[in-house]
Amino acid sequence: MEVGMIGADRDDVQSSKFKNYKGEDGKTDRLGLVFPDEAYANGKKIYCGTKIHFEQKTKKYFICKSTDTDKQICCTTPYSGNKNSWRLGAVVVKYNLVKEDGKTKLKGWEVLPWAFSENVYNKLKKQDGKFPLNKFDIEIEYKKQGQFLNSEITPCNDSIWRKNPELMKKVLALYPAALEDVKGNLAKDLNIEEIKELLGIDTPGSQDAATDVSIGDVLDGV
Ligand SMILES: [Zn+2]
Repeated sequence: MEVGMIGADRDDVQSSKFKNYKGEDGKTDRLGLVFPDEAYANGKKIYCGTKIHFEQKTKKYFICKSTDTDKQICCTTPYSGNKNSWRLGAVVVKYNLVKEDGKTKLKGWEVLPWAFSENVYNKLKKQDGKFPLNKFDIEIEYKKQGQFLNSEITPCNDSIWRKNPELMKKVLALYPAALEDVKGNLAKDLNIEEIKELLGIDTPGSQDAATDVSIGDVLDGV
């Protein structure tokens, strides 16, 4: 396509980014976890995840830099979020279901990236044990408890998107891009210097150098 001048009234110029799926207090959503059959057959690799920290003041998630044998500054500095935890993600299809004449009808659907805590992961894992996520949708209900949004997950009796071959094709076509979005948005991948800055740790710089070298030594060398 050629580069052209564009007016301010085009409505087909959109960000290719997906919105993230988010639960709301007092709401219940029906979702289907989206993944190709091979991913499920191959060790149920249907989630992505990383260890993260949460910085309270800026409310930022960032990826933990430690390994099993090498603890980094994100874990060793004292601050409220220094204990790392898992943050996970998956791709979901969210259905817009409407009751009409006593029947439930599918009025629309959206494929969305979904990021969640280890708590939700364990609930999904538990359901998958009894109601496999490649055959059953989930219903997820949100209720605020204190400052946290608690979620209750229950199985639905089938998988809407997998039952309809046309819908399945469309949903799976959106899956790879949505999965990349999940991976890219779980947490910020900061480098050590950026983590120090976020946590307000002084970085060794000119001040430290000045205390190690006396002015006389510096002048002698000139
Ligand atoms: Zn860490």
